[in-house]
This record gives sequence, C-alpha cells and structure tokens, in this order.
Amino acid sequence: MKKIINIGKVKLGAGNIVIQSMTNTITKDIESTVAQVKELAKAGAELVRVSVPDKESAFALKEIVNLTPVPIIADIHYSSEPAIIAIENGVSKIRINPYNMNKKELSAVVKKCAEFSVPIRVGVNKGSAKDLKTPRELAVSALDCAHLIEDMGWDKIVLAVKSSDVRETVEAYRTLNEITDYPLHIGLTEAGTEKYGLVKSAIAIGSLLLEGIGDTIRVSLTANPVKEVYAAKQILQAVGLDKNFVEVVACPTCARTQIDVVGLAEKIEKITENYTIPIKIAVMGCTVNGIGESKGADFGVAGGKYRSVIFKNGEKLKTVNNSEIENALIELIAEKING
Ligand code: SF4
Repeated sequence: MKKIINIGKVKLGAGNIVIQSMTNTITKDIESTVAQVKELAKAGAELVRVSVPDKESAFALKEIVNLTPVPIIADIHYSSEPAIIAIENGVSKIRINPYNMNKKELSAVVKKCAEFSVPIRVGVNKGSAKDLKTPRELAVSALDCAHLIEDMGWDKIVLAVKSSDVRETVEAYRTLNEITDYPLHIGLTEAGTEKYGLVKSAIAIGSLLLEGIGDTIRVSLTANPVKEVYAAKQILQAVGLDKNFVEVVACPTCARTQIDVVGLAEKIEKITENYTIPIKIAVMGCTVNGIGESKGADFGVAGGKYRSVIFKNGEKLKTVNNSEIENALIELIAEKING
C-alpha cells in the first residue's frame, strides 16, 4: 500500500493519477504567474509548481496562493531561506533537489515543513547527480534522501528520479517503486520540444502507468506549459486511466478511401474535445473494411462514393449522402449525451 500524502486538497497515493505542471513566468510578477496558474488549472492541472529563485518570489507566493484555485508547489534550489518563506506564505508542497542543498540547509527546510505540515518532494535528476551512473543508483539515492529527511523528523515525502533518457527513467522508477511506499511523481526531465518531447514522455510515463507505477505526472515540454497539461490528459486517456472523453478512431486512409477521413476525424475531435463522457466514434474511409474494423466504436461512418454507411454498435443504421455525414454523426453524439 502506498502512503497517502495530502498536497493541500489533493491526495497523492490514493489511486488516482494527479496531473501537474509548472509555470514559466517570473514568479515575483504576481499578475502573470496567477494568470498562468489559472490557465493551467482550467486546462486540467490539479497541482502547479512555481520556481522560487529568490526571497522576493517567495514573498509573492502569499498572493499567488490566495488568488489561485489549485495547491501551489514551491521549487527550491540551494538555499533554505526561500523555502522557509514559501512555507510561511502558504505553499502546499516544497520540491527540493538533494544534490544542490547541503545538510544544514536541508535540515532547516525539513524542520519548517514539519512545523507547517508541508510535504517535500525529493526530485533527484540524473543531470545534477553526476556520480549516479545507473538507474538503480538514482532510485537508491532518492530513497537515501527520504531516509535522511525521516531522520530529521518528517515523513510526508514524494519521490522522483528523472533523466532525459526514456529507458533509464523507466528503469529507475521501477526500482524505486519496488523499494519504497512513498508516492511517486513521474516524468522525464528536459524531455524536449513539443513533438519529440511528447513522444518520449508518452512512452516513459505511459509505460510506467501501464505497470501501475506513478501517482502524479508532469509532462515536461519546451513549450507553453498548457500543452503539458493537454499532453498529460491524453496520456491518461491513451492508457485507459481516463475514460471520460470522446475518442475518435479513424483509419489511416488508402487508395480505397471515398471520403475526407482526415478532415472529418479532425472536425469531430475538435467539436467534442471538451466533452467528458465516454464515446468512441469511428471515421472509416470505405465500406470494405470500415464497419468490421471499428466494431468497438459506439457509432461511426464508413465512406462510400456518393453515399456512406452510418453504423451503430457494429450494425448498419442507415446510409446518408456524403454531404450529410457530419450532421448524422453530430446527431448521434447528441443522442448519446442526452441518454
Ligand atoms: S478503412 Fe478502407 S479506406 Fe480506410 S484504410 Fe482501411 S481499407 Fe483504406
């Protein structure tokens, strides 16, 4: 059994996977930071981390915490001072990297966390721990740090062991999951730009989630952080941990294709992107394979030259002119939503 750690109103280790992201505004610019936290929360982030590089940023947290709808995590490096101010100003969690904070500073942070009941995330990153060569060493080092924090008198801890390498990250988390009961924050570090970073994150985070590993996820992308939240949501949907969405399955198109599969699939996806009910819609380019290959869909279309087949639960429902396909699908979506 995992230990349950409360981050403000959010529970880690309770079975559900919590989505988090991080701002890239200047934290002491309160207006911009609050606006971005709100934007991330609206997109689906349940926790938001902010960098706290100096005392001014730490003092700014008081207003940021009060003006935003999700628990705020302060990301601290080197010095205990901003961490202590951040805790006194209401943050719900502190993230530290044990490789850039000495024992005296760490002890001061731990003491304050215990006093205010604020959990600590220990984030060991391969890049900042040059002496750690293997995934096992990364995992063991994170746990050693947790033990050190326990010895200092606090045990509300979340662990992370990140690398920018997919295989290394997955192996490190597998090991960590075996040797600890603390909740795990999973993700890659410096995953990369939007497209390739997403592929890497989807493989790393997706593999771990399929093995039941991970309690909170952050997709780290060199892009607008809102895209991290969308990516995190899609990863949860793709691995079946979030079923409350409209999934458009579509054929890849080929020489048999009779209708604009790409345009139609994208349009239906766009129309339904904010729907939170489980529906599977198939957009297939021909009737040769269309219905058979999309049996798992609630309904869909199989394209014909002038008229196409609308099917429901694997059975033909009707045929419509190709100009009426979109409306026919929208009607079926409405029917499903209205029960
Ligand atoms: S469903 Fe038809 S059009 Fe689409 S890829 Fe298969 S054979 Fe081609």
